Amino acid sequence: MRCASDLTYMWINISDLYFLTFKYLASNGNKLRAIFEWLYEAYGPQHWWPGDTPFEVMTGAILTQNTAWSNVEKAMASLKALDCLSPEAIFALSHESLAGLLRPSGYFNVKARRLQGFCGWYLAQGGYKTLAREETEALRRRLLGIKGLGPETADDILLYAFKRPVFVIDAYTRRLFARIGVIQGDEGYEELRYVFESALGPDVALYNEFHALIVRHAKALCKSRPICSGCGLAACCVSSVYISSATSQRARH
Ligand code: SF4
Repeated sequence: MRCASDLTYMWINISDLYFLTFKYLASNGNKLRAIFEWLYEAYGPQHWWPGDTPFEVMTGAILTQNTAWSNVEKAMASLKALDCLSPEAIFALSHESLAGLLRPSGYFNVKARRLQGFCGWYLAQGGYKTLAREETEALRRRLLGIKGLGPETADDILLYAFKRPVFVIDAYTRRLFARIGVIQGDEGYEELRYVFESALGPDVALYNEFHALIVRHAKALCKSRPICSGCGLAACCVSSVYISSATSQRARH
């Protein structure tokens, strides 16, 4: 039976390990790449982001805030059915009409304002071709200047619509890598983005697939109550020790 001092000792070691690993990650992406390889092997290509055009990808990125993708699909289908899935058509709609079409995606009044604001900006800039000429950091700053667009949405747009090497940090990424023990999970967005990007190097295809696989794994196994027994990452995951021990203790009582 493990005693309290053993657990304290293990915690100190894990804490030390975290700092060592965190530093190691900044200069070497081997562990991250190994995690990616396992995820890819387990789930295969995810074909993200769904959308026929870059504008559809951008619209999906804005609508998916605080809602499941299945709800976004319904809203996008309503826009498509009326031939309204273009910046010009969305911008021309009345607020009430647009909010009605976006109803399935939740927070539809807020999202209607947000999407219309984005479309007004997008058209004023000259659309995709003009924006695609911008340097990544400049384009990122401009996207972050649009009301309602936070770093995660801006980075979804940069990675999946503009094919820029920007690693998206979301709640699933924080949860998975904090559990594995390579981050604390409460670091700032930019700090984490820097860690992943510096460890992996600029690679659009890798970032595209990695983010999609993280989301897939977080929904399949690494949920809020994780199912570690079926997870091939358990051998390198510091949390699996505690989670397995807590699960067996629950089973004993
Ligand atoms: S072992 Fe458990 S906590 Fe760790 S990554 Fe897998 S599912 Fe998540």
